[in-house]
Amino acid sequence: MKMIAIPGYGSLELENLVLDLNGTLTESGDFIPGVLDDLKKLKAHGFKIYILSGDTRGTLKQAFPKFSGVEPIVTKTALDKRAFVESIGAERTVCVGNGNIDVEMFKAARLSICTVQAEGATTQAILEADIVVIHIKHAFEILLDPKKLIATLRC
Ligand SMILES: [Mg+2]
Repeated sequence: MKMIAIPGYGSLELENLVLDLNGTLTESGDFIPGVLDDLKKLKAHGFKIYILSGDTRGTLKQAFPKFSGVEPIVTKTALDKRAFVESIGAERTVCVGNGNIDVEMFKAARLSICTVQAEGATTQAILEADIVVIHIKHAFEILLDPKKLIATLRC
């Protein structure tokens, strides 16, 4: 993503998109319809995409076999998620998640988006996010349209 200057907020130059899996890209274990196509668009837009999950079922890596630019990463705790974000450059990272396990990476990342949707979001995740949306598709739309980012974040 090109640098975006946001009045009263600062500039954003985001190159990494870090996504929680459960409750963010999936509902009840199944991908939310349209999400995989949206990831392709975001990749074409220039984002490096990482999916973080505790991988309780051991199926994380098989879930993304055809997305060469989407990297699944096993992270067991909130501090694991934060450490991963810091390892790739927190200042150039936007995170999307919904739970308490996402709170630490929300604190570290330049931009954080909390999505509520069917599984809900925790109060702490909402409080640490820069933006709250009701559905993951809205988070993706915001990231693909800098004017939406500017309109929401300017002050
Ligand atoms: Mg989650």
